[in-house]
Formats: sequence, structure tokens, C-alpha cells
Amino acid sequence: MSLDPARTVAELEELRALTGDENGAQRVAWTETWETAREFLRAKVAGTGAVEEIDQAGNQWFTLRGASDRALLIGGHMDSVPNGGWLDGCLNVLAGVEVLRRIAAEGEPPVTVRLVSWADEEGARFGRSLFGSSAAAGSMADQDELRQLRDRDGVALPDALREHGVDLDGALAARSQLGNAAAYLELHIEQGPVLESLGLPLGVVLGTFGVERSRFTWHGQAAHAGSTPMDRRRDALAGAAKLALDLRRIAAEAGGGAVCTSGGVVCRPGIVTSVVETAEQLLDQRHLDAATLASMLAAAREAADRFAAEEDLTVDWDRIWRIEPILFDEALVALADEAVTEVAGASHRLPSGPLHDAAEVSRAGVPTVMLFVQSLRGLSHTKLEDTKREHLELSVRALDRLADKALARL
Ligand SMILES: [Zn+2]
Repeated sequence: MSLDPARTVAELEELRALTGDENGAQRVAWTETWETAREFLRAKVAGTGAVEEIDQAGNQWFTLRGASDRALLIGGHMDSVPNGGWLDGCLNVLAGVEVLRRIAAEGEPPVTVRLVSWADEEGARFGRSLFGSSAAAGSMADQDELRQLRDRDGVALPDALREHGVDLDGALAARSQLGNAAAYLELHIEQGPVLESLGLPLGVVLGTFGVERSRFTWHGQAAHAGSTPMDRRRDALAGAAKLALDLRRIAAEAGGGAVCTSGGVVCRPGIVTSVVETAEQLLDQRHLDAATLASMLAAAREAADRFAAEEDLTVDWDRIWRIEPILFDEALVALADEAVTEVAGASHRLPSGPLHDAAEVSRAGVPTVMLFVQSLRGLSHTKLEDTKREHLELSVRALDRLADKALARL
């Protein structure tokens, strides 16, 4: 059976009809609809001879035994956000099914080939992303917090997982799954506008951005909006506003795709008749280079101190969360470039702003690379998410080429 990328597109449409509604994809992890998607996948893989296994973290694996136990992994996720897009996650899985069919049809592969659908990549129900892949990578260290998480209806995470056969306390046993992994490949929609703006269907991902999340708390003085002259005010929002605008300079000076976002400011007392006394400002900064990311944070803190002095305020800083940048494997990036150039005529290397399961696998020490296919208008996590049909087909071909090249070198 030779590769049939049009079949992948047809199967994606089938999955959309089966698990979506007029508002978009509804394959939220740990729900009935997610199980329906997993059953759909099981049926699609069935003709290949690959053997299914669900590990202790709920990840769904299909293994095609090869001459060697060393394994080439192809991964994605069947879960979606509520009202999500038709391609996020499942494109990689269903393209992987097509690659598995092609390899299976050629007889026993030189190394074992495994397709994985990671459990709960999105974290849509409980707010914890990358559940299954972080368990398999051994980097999950927040079981105590996970035990406390509840969904909107008050259902505790451990209870929801148990309904799907997963015991939270045993989830880390999924680590054994990466034991023989020699390489990991993941194809994903870009979810951003870069490839479309360059007029390219496909790109190779260099790694995932490191992230620094901070809270700046500005302190001024509440005062009557009518009786306090402009030059006598200590307005906490003025400091936050200056910092929000200065982020453009900080990102531009860092370069390399740096992004900084002041995603929220909460003002107190927060009434129309008072100068703002405290402003709590959230900051998210991302870069692929750890040193540059650190200097971006230092620049924001330095700017905040300066604006505090200018506005006669004080400002406190605390870190909410951080993750290191994760760089993908150089040799696989080069192979991916070759594969993309062969099927699309040109390639482009770019970082990923969003996190992906591939970052967890890479953190675990498995050589990893991702391919991105263009997203129309850069939209994702909405029913408007879309990619041109011919680009979807090219992406299946590129993943197949890459798998072939990787197999030849493992
Ligand atoms: Zn995704």
C-alpha cells in the first residue's frame, strides 16, 4: 500500500463529523467524545498489524515490531480544546497512521515503529497541559497539585482519570515507554501566521520557546478623582501602562522572534472616582535562547524600577512560572529540512511559541524534531482553524519522507 495523503484528509473530515459540532471540535480529554476519537483511531490502525497498548498515563500506543527493539516514535494528540479546530493534534496522529500503513506494507521495518496519541495535551478540562507526555518523560512532578484539581462541575482530576482507567499515582510508570526510543517526530499545524506570511506550506521547528511568567504589583495612593491635581497623583496604573508599552522595545531589542505580553492588569480600588492605588500586572515573555530570555526579564524589571521612580510608586516582582527553552535535535532538524525541501521545494526554520508534547519528549533526552504546516490566518483553538487541503497532503508526504530518512539512519 503506497502513501495516500488524500486518505488522511478524508479521515480528518470523518473525525470532524464524528466528534465535532457546529461550534467546532469537542474531543476534550477524559470525556466520552475523546474515547470516541480513540476508538476511531484504533479502527484506523487496525489493518496495519500494529499492536495497541494504553499505558499508565492513558497514552495510546500502536507498535509495529521491527528487526530491532530500538524505536522510531511518531506522536500527536487526539484531544482538543472545547470548540476547537479540526486539525490541532489529530493531524499528526492521522498522518502517522498513513505513514504506519506505508511502512507496514513494505514488510518488517529495520527498527520498531510506534505511533502515540498522548493523553490530555491541551489540559482543557483541568488546566494541566501535556499530562501524558510529561508522565512518559518522567518530568511530571506535580501530583500533589494534580490531586487537588477540579473541573467546572467539581469533579476531581483523579476521579475523572479513574473513569478512563488511569490511576494518577501510577501515571509515572509510563516512563518505561520511552526506554527504547531512538527518535521522535511530530507534525503539527503552526497555529501562527509566520509560514503563511512567507508563502511557504511547511517549516522545520528548531525548538520550543522558554517562558518567563511574572507578576508586577504596583503600589501608589488612592485619591479622589475630582480633588487631586494631576501633578500630585501617585497612580499605580501609570507605572503598569508605561511598562506595557515598553515591552515593544524590550522584545525588539532581544530580536529572534522574542515576544512579551502584558496579558492582564487588575486595578484597585477599580472605581471611576479614584486614582488607582494598586495595579497587579501579569507578564509573559518567551524566547528560544535562555540567555536572551533572562536578559528580557532583567530589562523588564529594570524598566519597572525606572517607571516606579518616575511615577513616585513602588513595585514588587514575583515569578509565577518558568520553563527553559527546549532545542530539538540538530541532526533531525537537518533531515527534516531535506524532507520538507524535497516535497515543497523550500523549507524554513522557525521556533515554536506554543508548547508541544515534543518538548517533553525532547526533555527526556530522546532526539526530537517537529514539522509545522501552514495555518490559514494563523488561527487555532477555534472552529475557524484551517489549512489548505494541498498543504495538508504535502505535510503527510513530508512526515513520511522524514520517517523514511530517520529509519535509514537509526
Ligand atoms: Zn496541539
